[in-house]
Amino acid sequence: MGILSVKGVNKRFGGLKALNDVNIDVEAGTVHAIIGPNGAGKSTLLNCFVGRLEPDTGTVDFDGASLLNRQPHEINQLGVSRVFQTPEIFGDLTLVENVMIPALAKRDGAFSINAWSAVAAEKDIVDRAMAMLEDVDLGSKADVTANELSRGDKRRLELAMCLVQDPKLLLLDEPTAGMSRADTNKTIDLLKKIGERGITKIVIEHDMHVVFSLASKISVMAQGTVIAEGKPEDIKGDPRVQEAYLGG
Ligand code: ADP
Ligand code: MG
Repeated sequence: MGILSVKGVNKRFGGLKALNDVNIDVEAGTVHAIIGPNGAGKSTLLNCFVGRLEPDTGTVDFDGASLLNRQPHEINQLGVSRVFQTPEIFGDLTLVENVMIPALAKRDGAFSINAWSAVAAEKDIVDRAMAMLEDVDLGSKADVTANELSRGDKRRLELAMCLVQDPKLLLLDEPTAGMSRADTNKTIDLLKKIGERGITKIVIEHDMHVVFSLASKISVMAQGTVIAEGKPEDIKGDPRVQEAYLGG
């Protein structure tokens, strides 16, 4: 059994069956891609891993603990960090401040903005935040306000905000969406570099170039169900996958 085990997960939104008996097993230390057409249920599934949504039925186990019926911050404490489909950053704060917040949230369990002036003086947190910004190639912009960043830079900032938490499992929902090819390639290199730290990653991605560059295993979703699963070379030629993308 892998580090993340998803069994029999179902989720309905009114009359819509967004997830229909989803089973996925993610091996520790690997990059596992989840692909599939728009509306397949990929983001809904990820939301069930981080406490944003609860499945109607099924189990989600991570590293010996259930991820169900827990608050998002508890799941974060268990070692799960997530990059959202739309960047969630603090636009009015500087980059280094943006990275300090999740570092403190992980350390303290929850983060109170009232404690901000006290913790801002904590050198080790500042140093760690700076190191993470260097890792994602944003070190020179540490004192820039986050709102001023390009889209690609915002996504890299988010990645730094995850990495500073030293996660065991990193969830990436379309990390290269809306990026130029140059920014996409930069992000692929970055994710490969992170890969060397042994963090398990789940990547939801539309860009097949990204998927085939990074993933060791792929689960293909369509209409709420996993329709195919395997190594990239097996998935590439699978007629069910082609059909799902062409609308069947
Ligand atoms: P994907 O990420 O694969 O594009 P989603 O998981 O976002 O797909 O959506 C799966 C289906 O569930 C879509 O039909 C979407 O419209 C629907 N859906 C997602 N979130 C909600 C919600 N909160 N309420 C109602 N329907 C939703
Ligand atoms: Mg989505």
